[in-house]
Amino acid sequence: MSKVRSKDTKPELTLRKALFARGFRYRANDAKLPGKPDIVLSKYKTAIFLHGCFWHSHEGCKYASTPKTNTKYWVDKIASNAERDKAIVEKLTAAGWNVIVVWECELRHKHDITPLIDRIEADLLAQLPKKMSVKIYEERENEILMVAEDIVEYRRESKSNAGMSK
Ligand SMILES: [Zn+2]
Repeated sequence: MSKVRSKDTKPELTLRKALFARGFRYRANDAKLPGKPDIVLSKYKTAIFLHGCFWHSHEGCKYASTPKTNTKYWVDKIASNAERDKAIVEKLTAAGWNVIVVWECELRHKHDITPLIDRIEADLLAQLPKKMSVKIYEERENEILMVAEDIVEYRRESKSNAGMSK
C-alpha cells in the first residue's frame, strides 16, 4: 500500500460532477491554498477536502481500521496525517475560508448521494451573504477571462481573413 494520490480518483469525479450538475463552478486541486483542497469554490469562499477514510482516520468508520501488521507504523502515520489535516483547516479558517470535509465512504459506498450533495449545497449557499465582495471579485475575474478569450478568437479570425484576401 503506497500513498500515491491520483489526481482524479473516482469518488472525486463523482463529487465534482454532482456539484457541477447543481450549477456550482470550481477549481480542482488548487495548489495555491494550504493543503491543496480537492475542490475550491472561490465564489463561496469554500474549500472541500475529500478524505480517504483510512488515510485520514474517519472516526467510527469501518474503512478506517488499522492494519494488523506494522501496526505502530500505521498508527504513527495516520496520527501525523490527522495532525496535518487539523493544521490545514486552521490555516484556511484563519484566512476566512469555509472548509467542508467529505469522506470517501460517503461517495463510494452509497447508492444515493443526494443527501450529501444537499448538505454541501446548503453549506455553500449559507456562505453567500457574508462573502458578497468575493462574489463580485470572482465575476470580474470571469470577465477578464472572457475578454482574453475574445482576443484569441479575434486573432484567429484576422488570420483567416488575411488568407482569403490573397
Ligand atoms: Zn468513512
